[in-house]
Amino acid sequence: MLCRIGEIEVWRILEWQGLFLPPEELFPNAPPDVAQIMEDLAPGTVDAGSGRIILPVQAYLLKTPDQVVLVDTGIGNHKTSKSLPFWSDLTDTRFLSALAAAGIAPQDVDFVVFTHSHTDHVGWNTTLRDGAWIPTFPNARYLMPDADVEMLSGRGLAIYDESLAPVIEAGLVDRIGADFPHNDQISLLATPGHSPGHVSVLLSSQGQEAVLTGDALHSTAQCQHPHWQFKFDSDPDLAVASRRTLLETCVARDLTVIGSHFTLPSIGKVTSDGDVFRWTEP
Ligand SMILES: [Zn+2]
Repeated sequence: MLCRIGEIEVWRILEWQGLFLPPEELFPNAPPDVAQIMEDLAPGTVDAGSGRIILPVQAYLLKTPDQVVLVDTGIGNHKTSKSLPFWSDLTDTRFLSALAAAGIAPQDVDFVVFTHSHTDHVGWNTTLRDGAWIPTFPNARYLMPDADVEMLSGRGLAIYDESLAPVIEAGLVDRIGADFPHNDQISLLATPGHSPGHVSVLLSSQGQEAVLTGDALHSTAQCQHPHWQFKFDSDPDLAVASRRTLLETCVARDLTVIGSHFTLPSIGKVTSDGDVFRWTEP
């Protein structure tokens, strides 16, 4: 277990960690020495040999007293990713093994909540069996950002055909907005820009609060440099505005902050020093 927020157990479901793209490409408006800045602020997150970012892909499992909630579903197996071939056609059991290690079988999941609908967040929605994509979590309601489903539908994209359409056609999906009140312990915070419907997930229990950032932040170095845009943002300026709002919220509410793509320990807090935000780890 990663941590406990009041009555909520938070488990990290690490699926993949590897060499992604170079920081100069991922953060196109960052200074040319972005790799050195990252090494100073987030040591060990840029591979010295290849110059590429070391990126974990992880989902989070929330066990509340009466619900099992999965936040995002990783890359998945046998998926097609033309733009990021190292995520194509994986045959890895790590995701489901991590769930099993937390005591959860696929049929135990009550809800799947999505921060957004990108390749590395929706993959285990479905499993390929006998040539057909079937829902991995047959008893769950899949709560998907409406704006993201809208963005992906009707364009002949592999991600839609492989990971979204099968759960939609199975009647398991509720298309929601950020104002969706999941329950009194889990709610959503609109952080659009990385994708049109992107949300971060707020946890609140027994006076403790945390946020799962999703891809509103990709690196803890973006706390100090929130203006760094990300290569795959659908609206980079909006993403920057959302990131600043999120960071202000983290400070104002003293939130425990848990990142989708932060390297271990993946958890910390944001403090402010004047108008500069800083990342601190426990
Ligand atoms: Zn991501």
